[in-house]
Amino acid sequence: MTNIGILNLQGDVLEHFEITKKALEDMDAKADVFKVKTTENLSKCDGIIISGGESTVIGKLMEKTGIKDMLISQNIPVLGTCAGMVLLAKKTDYKQPLLGLIDMEVKRNAFGRQKVSFEDEVEIFGGKFKGVFIRAPYIEKVGENVDILSEYNEKIIAVKSGKFIATAFHPELTGDTKIHKYFIKEVLKCAE
Ligand code: GLN
Repeated sequence: MTNIGILNLQGDVLEHFEITKKALEDMDAKADVFKVKTTENLSKCDGIIISGGESTVIGKLMEKTGIKDMLISQNIPVLGTCAGMVLLAKKTDYKQPLLGLIDMEVKRNAFGRQKVSFEDEVEIFGGKFKGVFIRAPYIEKVGENVDILSEYNEKIIAVKSGKFIATAFHPELTGDTKIHKYFIKEVLKCAE
């Protein structure tokens, strides 16, 4: 059985849990989803999702629990959304703990004051997707081995680099399982 973890330190963990469960059911995948709070939980994961929330808080808790170091060395697929995307970056405009798994530079709370939270249609995988942005970051710079999956108003908002996927918006709040299914396929492929 393949295990997909949802990092359960802070943020909208439940929403990711529910939508991953739904995606797995739709796909009839031989995989399970569970919440991850400790390195022991993490050691059982074949892939992990880092939710939105407050990236400074999640990062500090990842350090405290030892999850940060373990996640860096474990080399499993990771999906990071919003704060999760920030944590995957090599660099941000804040001083905070980072995983640095994707060669990218991220600007936090980047869409400006008047656009603290908003929804708009974005394009990904050649189709439309409901982009839910909540104090969202965007990507300012990517390295050579990073594929851009989506741009919005000329800002990079989703990328894939090897087995790591990041979105600035919140696919877990839409009911649309497309991005989760894409991630699950990556996890199943890597776990083969
Ligand atoms: N602004 C938050 C951060 O940078 C992310 C917000 C979110 O995840 N919705 O940590």
